[in-house]
Amino acid sequence: METKMEWKTDCKTCRSHLADLLLDESYITEHPDLAAHMAACAECRTELEELQATVALLGEWTAPEPSAYFDVKLRARLREVQGSEPEGLWSRMRSFLLFSTGRRLRPALAGTLVVAVVLGGGGTLAGLYERSAAVVVQASPAVNDLNVLDNNAQALQQMDQLLDPGDDGSAPPTT
Ligand SMILES: [Zn+2]
Repeated sequence: METKMEWKTDCKTCRSHLADLLLDESYITEHPDLAAHMAACAECRTELEELQATVALLGEWTAPEPSAYFDVKLRARLREVQGSEPEGLWSRMRSFLLFSTGRRLRPALAGTLVVAVVLGGGGTLAGLYERSAAVVVQASPAVNDLNVLDNNAQALQQMDQLLDPGDDGSAPPTT
């Protein structure tokens, strides 16, 4: 029967196809079930009509024009920010390095320091090891020399960490 065919498509099914009906005009002719339901059900028809009206409205919508001085103000602001950026960035980085107690930062920072030592010394890694050993040999009981010794031990430890990328759980190779 004709009426039975109409209601084979219920409102729920119809609503789930609203997007198809909205975006594809031929969809309703290709799906007679939906067409029949739409013809019979005022609620679904209203739903689709409201959606169509909303889409039509969106199609007409245009972004508001910026004010006359928008470009001028924006460029001035950009110049301002560009001018202050290096100092601002540096002070932010410095305070981050000084005050951050993050665990992740410290190994990274140590690695950076070792790289700086290697590059700054202008020598090879072997050269750094040799110089470290020399300092260790020359170490006197004086407090200053003990500090140097301690620093060297730390540098060597950090370098081992740097050279061994898998220090997350896996034991570093014993030398
Ligand atoms: Zn319906």
